[in-house]
Amino acid sequence: MSGLAREEAQDGRRDLAPGDPLPPPLTLAAMYHAPGAGTGHAVYGRTDNPTWEALEHALGHLEAAEAVAFPSGMAAISAALFATLKAGDRLLVPSDGYYVTRLLAERVLERFGVGVDQRPTARFAEGSFAGYRVVYLETPSNPGLDLCDIADIAARARAEGALVIADNTTMTPFGQRPLDHGADIVVAADTKAPGGHSDVLMGHAASRDPALVAALRDWRRISGAIPGPFEAWLTHRSLETLELRFARMCDTAGAAAVRLAATPGVEVRYPGLPGHPSHNLARSQMARMGFLIGLTLPSEAAAEAFIAACPYLRPATSFGGVHSSAERRARWGDAVPPGYVRLSVGCEPPEELIPALETALAAALA
Ligand SMILES: *Cc1c(COP(=O)(O)O)cnc(C)c1O
Repeated sequence: MSGLAREEAQDGRRDLAPGDPLPPPLTLAAMYHAPGAGTGHAVYGRTDNPTWEALEHALGHLEAAEAVAFPSGMAAISAALFATLKAGDRLLVPSDGYYVTRLLAERVLERFGVGVDQRPTARFAEGSFAGYRVVYLETPSNPGLDLCDIADIAARARAEGALVIADNTTMTPFGQRPLDHGADIVVAADTKAPGGHSDVLMGHAASRDPALVAALRDWRRISGAIPGPFEAWLTHRSLETLELRFARMCDTAGAAAVRLAATPGVEVRYPGLPGHPSHNLARSQMARMGFLIGLTLPSEAAAEAFIAACPYLRPATSFGGVHSSAERRARWGDAVPPGYVRLSVGCEPPEELIPALETALAAALA
């Protein structure tokens, strides 16, 4: 995969006239000039927007697929599920993935007659995929950072007639491309590392199957779940630096995980550590090991003390920003120990951040 900047330079903005601005347009329009039959051009703001097109062009390049932008990660996930499921279908979701996806399945889709089953990510490949219309996976899972084998699951699920949807939020296209491993649709919260500056919510769904892309676009047009043009513009701008930010974040996280794991009294979960139960799968399936680290401290109090003691750590939910952040996921009811901290490594200088994390951890464990 080539970098985004190179692609944009070669292709995305090639048709500029002298004097045109280099950045893509920020177009705020509900109505477009649409005389006569009104076909073959933009007509209405729920169906057409040039700023979305710029964002989708960039996302499509990163996914090597056609991308459809949505106003949040959950809007993209909703689109993928509503575009593929109908009453009487069965859906398999991870029991330990992003919890709002489970709420969507249990509180909404079940009411519309979709049968929902759950399976833990680490054992997702165990058992059959027969009878499912959609097999939905998330790897590495948020928050537990467990993995499953996308290619194996996609091949077997497809053989059983299922569609495979993969949530790639924790990795971004620079870390993992589920469509390359056989998934039918990839979904992601661009609110996280792609947005990267903790100021915008965005999501996308992408597929190499034109019928699925048409269904996603149809859902967006009919449901009205459209991104705001300014949010799309901000996300496009952020994507220009995603490759650099993501590389820095993964490099620092890898070094930090090794150093933190050497501290007695804490259990460190990171796909790049040889002790991770799916380390070999991580090395074959992922281009990078990610910027999220799971730390299990002995108690809730120790975990909170660690987060409070490190001046670089913003106590906040969500992840993927340029500033490192951390939170105890048990506070939202995720099935993790009370002392489990999900640490999102940012873009701070590693020679400052890593010693600060070590010092705070030692103090919290003392
Ligand atoms: C945050 C997140 C989402 C939801 O994204 P929003 O933009 O908050 O709607 C979905 N999946 C995963 C894995 C996430 O971490």
